[in-house]
Amino acid sequence: MSQPMLSVIVPVLDERDNVVTLRDRLDAALGEMDVAIEFVFVDDGSTDGTSDVLASMAAADSRVRVLCLSRNFGHQAALAAGLEHAAGDAVVIMDADLQDPPEVVPEFVAQWRAGHQVVYGVRRDRKEALWKRAGYFVFYRLLARFAYLDMPLDSGDFCLMDRRVVDELKKLPEVGRYLRGLRSWAGWKQVGVPYARAARAAGKPKYTLRKLIHLAADGFVSSSVRPLRVATKIGFIFAFLSVTTTVVYLVMWLSGLGDWPPGFATTVLLITFLFGIQFMLIGILGEYVGSIHSEVKRRPPYLVARRIGFDKDDVNTD
Ligand code: UDP
Ligand code: MG
Repeated sequence: MSQPMLSVIVPVLDERDNVVTLRDRLDAALGEMDVAIEFVFVDDGSTDGTSDVLASMAAADSRVRVLCLSRNFGHQAALAAGLEHAAGDAVVIMDADLQDPPEVVPEFVAQWRAGHQVVYGVRRDRKEALWKRAGYFVFYRLLARFAYLDMPLDSGDFCLMDRRVVDELKKLPEVGRYLRGLRSWAGWKQVGVPYARAARAAGKPKYTLRKLIHLAADGFVSSSVRPLRVATKIGFIFAFLSVTTTVVYLVMWLSGLGDWPPGFATTVLLITFLFGIQFMLIGILGEYVGSIHSEVKRRPPYLVARRIGFDKDDVNTD
């Protein structure tokens, strides 16, 4: 049998100083593994000349393929583009900034050969700011509680997926894709490989706090409707409380115990509290309505402006 092929999908946004190192370190790490490699770099609208670096890499190395999206569509959309165009028997997804260490990939391949269709990295420790680490900690635990699926804690997009899983994910109709959720949903034999998450090699993080919050909201909304149920439950609890308080007040009034002190503070507190809850619940509803809104438009999650290094469809719109 010929060597199996591994497609390595790398979404890149302004990662000029990282892409070559990534390829070289991955080459070195996979040297002994008896696999053919295909690199699928997805340039997600870089403006720092990353696409030129990638194009010259592709010119010198026939294993390198580059997809240039027509603008910045976001990390998850870039991943979808990579999955759509990868040809390998297994697909590895990793960040360009070397936070996902290439040296862990051989372990993924070994687990794949041992019969697992999905192998994901589990972050043992992170070298990031404290607020970010705390945020991730809370987010993954909340998501695990709310999602219908058994989502592994502390696992990101860094993973290997068998061709069969990738083909099934490609068939899914949804436009907004939260890959980690879909990957858990897909099933098959899955296994986590613990690894230490490195610090970013060069450049600045491309996920701003805003993008991270959006990603977290998408993660919730695409994986679970339980937050909506929480809304209903909170609503019921408050309805019940208000009925019982009314009864208590009424009974006290009828039995002549209704000697109320002036209750301005209570009133103000109650009103702000209840309005707070109400706006929160409307916010949760809004997230779901927003997600329906973007799904019904049926727009593709990304547009490809240029392909480099693929067999047939080299187009250049420059
Ligand atoms: N990225 C992307 N599009 C974006 C944001 C990020 O393709 O809109 C890429 C980025 O180049 C990197 C990966 O996604 O390869 C993860 O981004 P980053 O390292 O900034 O995220 P963090 O490690 O802070 O979560
Ligand atoms: Mg990073």
